[in-house]
Amino acid sequence: MTGLFMTLLLLPLQVAAVPDSTVAAEAVQDSTAVRNDTLLTEDGLPDSVIVLGHRVPVYAIRPMASEKVSASNVIDTLPTSVPGVKVLLYNDNTWRYSKTDEYIADNAVFADNWDSENFNAYRSPVDSLPETWSVWLVDSLGSYHMPQIGRVTSKWGYRHGRRHQGIDISLPNGTPLFAVFDGKVRISKSVKGGYGNLVVIRHNNGLETFYGHMSRRNVKPGDIVHAGDTIGFSGNTGRSTGPHLHFETRYQGLTFDPQRIINFENGDLRQRMMVLKRRYFDASSCYDQDFDEEFLLVEDDARALEEKKKKDAEEARKAMVYHKVRSGENLGLIARKYHTTVNSICRLNGIKSTTILRIGRTLRVR
Ligand SMILES: [Zn+2]
Repeated sequence: MTGLFMTLLLLPLQVAAVPDSTVAAEAVQDSTAVRNDTLLTEDGLPDSVIVLGHRVPVYAIRPMASEKVSASNVIDTLPTSVPGVKVLLYNDNTWRYSKTDEYIADNAVFADNWDSENFNAYRSPVDSLPETWSVWLVDSLGSYHMPQIGRVTSKWGYRHGRRHQGIDISLPNGTPLFAVFDGKVRISKSVKGGYGNLVVIRHNNGLETFYGHMSRRNVKPGDIVHAGDTIGFSGNTGRSTGPHLHFETRYQGLTFDPQRIINFENGDLRQRMMVLKRRYFDASSCYDQDFDEEFLLVEDDARALEEKKKKDAEEARKAMVYHKVRSGENLGLIARKYHTTVNSICRLNGIKSTTILRIGRTLRVR
């Protein structure tokens, strides 16, 4: 059994720049034993990765199922080559890696721009980011857990002309919410009229996740969390019209569509290494361009346009002025009376300046 773990090799957790392909290919060999010559196949490589012009191991783009935090008893603990990382064996024949809090806390991402009040602790303008770069979301220790799965009621991007910074997942009140990756709690507070009960976690991979509208928070700023830890429970606090989780993913304080990393239909992490592009931070750049929400948005626009037309027509109707022709009146006289022109009256009524006016006829003069 231990032999399986002998080949364990850790990946550097945080890759800020485009990684060196050779290093990545070698480092990526873990207990799943990916061979070097199979690392560079184009199988399933998304376009975005090919565009980068560097080789990416298949391992990096393999989806990853949400970790199952076993309720079974631990029957053995095995050391690994990395201090602070152990393997826990359970009595139901499952196993998982376990990292110490010290191991998680010992990471440069927590050193700077640390702020337990402000949502965006970085304040870096979007154009300070490179066009394209990559981030390892999980290392070969594989710590990932879905936040929670439910019906997605609103996606990231423009919603009724306003920017929606996260994804909304409808959940019954009190549903447990999980830390997605290992990390450290940056914010845990109640935000009136907005997020409600909010937890913000900065993860070892450099990403931040936001959990809003919670009924109850389980963590406080500075707490170390492991992927899969229950950080609180879903609710309806803040600006919310029903119990749901508002979930955000941020990099350098800027939000991007959480669907880019998580498949909210099955809870899988789409790939272990994420390619980020600067344009992903633009609110119009969502993961699936043709989702229902967009159609709704178009429908809303059509409805709004129809309403505006009606309103305009109503106003125009109110602005109309009519005149009943009396004995001895002609077009010139009527035009002068209403400070308009004969031509204008003719146009409004579809008549000629020579048309003989019958007494009692109603003419529109404005
Ligand atoms: Zn939301």
